[in-house]
Amino acid sequence: MSVKDLSGGKGQPFQALVLFGPPGSGKGTQAKLLMQCLKIPQISTGDMLRGHIQAGNSLGQEVSEIMRAGALVADDKVNALVEERLAKPDCAQGFILDGYPRTQQQAEALHQWLAKRDVDELVIHLKVDYNSLIARLTGRRQCPLCGTLYNLFSKAPKQDEVCDLDGTKLVTREDDSAAVIQERLDAYDRQTQPLIAYFRENKRRLLELDAGSEPPPELMKKICKAIQDHARG
Ligand code: AMP
Repeated sequence: MSVKDLSGGKGQPFQALVLFGPPGSGKGTQAKLLMQCLKIPQISTGDMLRGHIQAGNSLGQEVSEIMRAGALVADDKVNALVEERLAKPDCAQGFILDGYPRTQQQAEALHQWLAKRDVDELVIHLKVDYNSLIARLTGRRQCPLCGTLYNLFSKAPKQDEVCDLDGTKLVTREDDSAAVIQERLDAYDRQTQPLIAYFRENKRRLLELDAGSEPPPELMKKICKAIQDHARG
């Protein structure tokens, strides 16, 4: 078993999963599905940062312009947020990182954190072609009340622009406008995509999966199987 058991042999092995891929590759959707199945928390740096913006605190004020422009927030801020989050008790059996690391400095910070505990992360790279990404991002809608995600092209609500579960009017994320989508994809190409070579060079465990063709529950099963096969191997 290549994933370390930090539970003293009593529980499941510690799982540090990194969902990696461009904006729109389905990291958030897969993280939510995997969280239910693996019983470890989803840690989305995007959600955490949006939470600070909503709270109107000083971090939120510092990052809101950057996020609105589709650029990356400074490494030291994001690393500090993640480190604080990983110290919480619900991460004791592992966690699913969604949207982190996004730069080499972040990857190094994560490796240091894991090395101290003698565990490795497993990076799952969700590969989706450019045109599907654009369709997913421009069609994305969310219920502001319950958080349910929809897509006008692939998972439309029953009634136009209204949440199926509670009837609330759906919203578009501020950074899902066409110009900002392009910025976010550029930031991915420049700063995040090169991490794949970095993971390989540093012998990190990396699984690559086609995430463009199947419905989310089917893809989730494939990811679970790949994780199990990897742990056995
Ligand atoms: P996401 O919800 O993962 O698409 O992230 C939304 C935005 O939050 C990104 O476009 C960045 O501005 C910011 N962000 C999220 N995660 C990170 C990260 N790991 N490093 C830097 N900025 C981030």
